[in-house]
Amino acid sequence: MAGPLNPRRIALLGATGSIGSSALDVIARHPDRFAMHAVSARSRVPELLAICDRFRPDVAIVSDESSYASLRDGLKDLGLPTEARSGAGALDEIAASDDNDTVIAAIVGAAGVASTVAAARAGKRLLLANKESVVLAGAVLMRAASANNARIMPVDSEHNAIYQCMPGDGSREGVRRLLLTASGGPFRGRSRASLANVTAEEACAHPNWVMGRKISVDSATLLNKGLEVIEAHHLFGLPADRIEVVVHPQSVIHSLVDYVDGSVLAQLGNPDMRTALAYGLAWPERIDSGVAPLDLAALARFDFEPPDLQAFPGLGLAFDALRAGGTAPAILNAANEVAVAAFLEGRLPFLGIPDLIEATLAAQAIEPAADLGVLLASDREARRRAGELLRKMGIQ
Ligand code: NDP
Ligand code: MG
Repeated sequence: MAGPLNPRRIALLGATGSIGSSALDVIARHPDRFAMHAVSARSRVPELLAICDRFRPDVAIVSDESSYASLRDGLKDLGLPTEARSGAGALDEIAASDDNDTVIAAIVGAAGVASTVAAARAGKRLLLANKESVVLAGAVLMRAASANNARIMPVDSEHNAIYQCMPGDGSREGVRRLLLTASGGPFRGRSRASLANVTAEEACAHPNWVMGRKISVDSATLLNKGLEVIEAHHLFGLPADRIEVVVHPQSVIHSLVDYVDGSVLAQLGNPDMRTALAYGLAWPERIDSGVAPLDLAALARFDFEPPDLQAFPGLGLAFDALRAGGTAPAILNAANEVAVAAFLEGRLPFLGIPDLIEATLAAQAIEPAADLGVLLASDREARRRAGELLRKMGIQ
């Protein structure tokens, strides 16, 4: 049990992001429980330096090598003893290091997969926000975790909710279905035709959550829910036909577990990622997360509706990829990352995102997901093909 004598030692990968800052907020509330071993960013050095100044980690990492000198010099100027490191390899080393017991995987995209798997192999408590690594390498990750007694604590709010509602003995005994809730995103209720010219700013204006730009676009296309269906399959070991999605615009019921006796257990709370992070950090205890108590009378009502697969075909594509198995989810994820980057840069229209994913899946053979090497090769190949398809569409 973490306490004043043996605080949990944390490596926070993706410290400068949206999840990273929510994690820092929870950690700062409990200095007796948590000590910061390492923090990382890709390249935003000023933000990382501010975190180092406040949390005094032993190590700070920029995965972008060209940012190393400014990190090193900045730490020196601040008079901090924090050691600067750089490169993707430094992330994997920290994830596996014996100097921390808890890794928060809060990097965005498949760039997080190697460090996430390294933490599982090293038997860490792994607070898993980086859903793309589960979509890409779920089977490998779950095998590594179970072989090395790593405890995966889902941070994605839906999966955290399901984790809290599953049988306490870690089994799937009596579970009929998982019900994943979706807010519907900023374009809920709109027709497909009306989405042709939406901008990145509109797509990133989520009604209930403030998040990084990539996941915000994923929420707008519903591909985020598709990635979460695949994530739920791996984390909880249920097939696609026992995972359902229901749109719940208030984002207060974070997800539900339906049991064979007719009981449906749900986890509720204000939409704030600090709840899931506090749960993962302190489990099996409960600690203050800074999240305001839920005011049901003020909310007054909960609404539910089925997802619109015509306007948002990304969700259907993800179900198809999960059913196809093998490398299909890796291809889906990679094509989506390429498409979202092009959309955020104003090069690809919104409706081009699912189109590009579908075309990439059609162009690339699906192979058995034998090991991480095969999956990473498939990820690289899908990125190359998606880039080529973009160029064929006249998009540079
Ligand atoms: P952000 O874009 O806000 O933050 C991403 C973090 O990862 C930053 O620290 C960034 O560093 C770093 N990073 C980006 N690219 C790379 C790379 N190639 N290599 C190493 N580090 C990199 O993302 P979010 O916090 O929104 O999301 C993080 C993960 O959590 C995603 O997988 C997302 O799907 C998941 N998630 C997020 C939720 C949310 O509420 N935000 C909710 C549920 C899940 P830098 O600042 O230097 O660019
Ligand atoms: Mg989620």
